[in-house]
Amino acid sequence: MEQKRTINFGAGPAKLPQSVLLQAQQEFVKYSNSGISVLEMSHRSSDFSNIIEKTQCLLRELLNIPDNYKVMFLQGGGSGQFSAVPLNLIGLKGDRCADYLVTGTWSAKAAKEAEKYGKVNIVHPKLDRYTKIPDPSSWTLNPSASYVYYCSNETVHGVEYNFTPETNGVVLVSDMSSNFLSRPVDVSKFGLIFAGAQKNVGCAGVTVVIIREDLLGHSLKECPIVLDYKVQADMNSLYNTPPCFSIYIMGLVLQWIKNNGGSAVMETLNKQKSAMIYDIIDASNGFYVCPVDEVCRSRMNVPFRVGKKDGDEALEKEFVDGAAKRGMIALKGHRSVGGIRASLYNAVTLEDTEVLAAYMKEFLKEHQ
Ligand code: PLP
Repeated sequence: MEQKRTINFGAGPAKLPQSVLLQAQQEFVKYSNSGISVLEMSHRSSDFSNIIEKTQCLLRELLNIPDNYKVMFLQGGGSGQFSAVPLNLIGLKGDRCADYLVTGTWSAKAAKEAEKYGKVNIVHPKLDRYTKIPDPSSWTLNPSASYVYYCSNETVHGVEYNFTPETNGVVLVSDMSSNFLSRPVDVSKFGLIFAGAQKNVGCAGVTVVIIREDLLGHSLKECPIVLDYKVQADMNSLYNTPPCFSIYIMGLVLQWIKNNGGSAVMETLNKQKSAMIYDIIDASNGFYVCPVDEVCRSRMNVPFRVGKKDGDEALEKEFVDGAAKRGMIALKGHRSVGGIRASLYNAVTLEDTEVLAAYMKEFLKEHQ
């Protein structure tokens, strides 16, 4: 049973499982038999080697990662990977071009970054609003592209892919920062997956990169050495000092996911939590409005407006203030879209979601 705390619906850094925080607290000053804190530990010590090894094994087990893939724990965040991906992969084929699916803020930023290093082809008609995923029949994929890139869950707009894009053999790359381990994934369909830890699998500071081995060793000559996947993979993420404490926290979160049934159970819970909120939105006769197409509504980030289609800002402020009085925070939508956004990552419980659902019903009754 969790201690009663403020319920954090933030988009990231986000809520961590309480048992993880308590374990980290207990081990904070003296980790195991080391006599020192993980914060003080050499990244080349045997204690830290055990931590990084265990974290990697857990990840391999939870995602069933095939043996011909390397797992790395890098710095620079998701944004660092926007640059690292083209720097490492755009030179895979002579033309230096890459296909991008742009379905929200994060894939748009990634495409813009890639333009620095080669030709970027947006494979579908440009979207004027990020509320849907263009039908694959409208995509024009380039068979000579070095890779196809997409963001599997657009955190700002609440748009999530419920399918894996078909690329006719071209290497598939995905930013899974905001739905990593929220559902099972067939890693073998991807050339590269990356995910910042601070939403579903830990705290800020570490980004997981999973890459198929044959894609290593193709970096552009201008690629900074810390972003070079071959160097980092050969050195087991220890080319330079890694984000030791963030890796340790991720290990605790992965153990928590394992103890709680793995990605399949996370998926069941995430479906239940998000359905609870979308059902209230859909039954509210237009009082709550989610602009995203039903087929690609995110289970992780639920964006909605209050009062009318484009939102009544005064009512939305009242909603956020009322939520804070009831112990729920970080419900304000991203500054670029406004409205409300409820992030329901793995550590947000069914009970947390029920508190929000009850409040949404009460608010609707009062204002309709
Ligand atoms: N990709 C996605 C899907 C994100 O949600 C974010 C941040 O929220 C990023 C990338 C950027 O991550 P970072 O802030 O760690 O650079």
